[in-house]
Amino acid sequence: MTLSPQPAPSAHAAFKRVLVKLSGEALMGDREYGVDPGRIESIAREIVEVHQSGAEVALVIGAGNIVRGMQAAEGGMDRATADYAGMLATLLNSLTVQDALERHGAQTRVLSAITVAEVAEPYIRRRAIRHLEKGRIVIFAAGTGNPFFTTDTAAALRALEIGAEAILMAKNNVEGVYDGDPNVDPNARFLPELTHLEAIERGLKVMDTTALSLCMDNHLPIHVFALADGNIRRVVAGERVGTIISTPRDPGANR
Ligand code: UDP
Repeated sequence: MTLSPQPAPSAHAAFKRVLVKLSGEALMGDREYGVDPGRIESIAREIVEVHQSGAEVALVIGAGNIVRGMQAAEGGMDRATADYAGMLATLLNSLTVQDALERHGAQTRVLSAITVAEVAEPYIRRRAIRHLEKGRIVIFAAGTGNPFFTTDTAAALRALEIGAEAILMAKNNVEGVYDGDPNVDPNARFLPELTHLEAIERGLKVMDTTALSLCMDNHLPIHVFALADGNIRRVVAGERVGTIISTPRDPGANR
């Protein structure tokens, strides 16, 4: 474990606390499977920079680079068992990212929704918040701990639980949300802003609907942008990058 000074809050961060969702694909780079060490290195460097700018940072990490429950179930595996395998795979990715963050001098904790006492703390909400307040980067592993969910839903749930101001979704090879798949349809239009409901109704492939509706009901904005060098830092600094999904509050409502 690396002991390093806590980051001094500075004027550079527009957010006090954010949750960054990294898909398994984002860790894979151009590979077919597993993790790309160069990619992990650049992500870790940037996250540590963001943290040093004064923002509290929590991460939820997917596992599409190793196991996706639904795909394994299509191949004949029992769905719930496949999902548990997927959740355990997020733990492998979490330890890999933890190691890279600590090599860059950050203090970190992995909190797992499935008990793996030898390698990570159990997820306890108040403990997660305390770690963030103490200047540690918190990595939430094992998704929600329940099969039939995704790490997008885990990101929405944990972001709400810790009072994050936004979810930052760094995507592989897409600049944000489009009204079609830009890798397939050359006429797909980039959408700089939309509401959660529009994303759900138009079936835009940004996050699964469980996660989107949780964010919509709780007015949690989602910033979707390409995982290109410096983008996480730009978003946290308040720059306009990619797509913002938000639902304005009803001015007549109490909250
Ligand atoms: N998973 C699950 N419950 C959760 C989170 C994840 O069962 O709360 C399983 C599910 O099988 C999923 C896999 O873990 O396919 C990996 O997560 P995900 O597909 O969300 O990873 P990503 O697409 O972000 O890489």
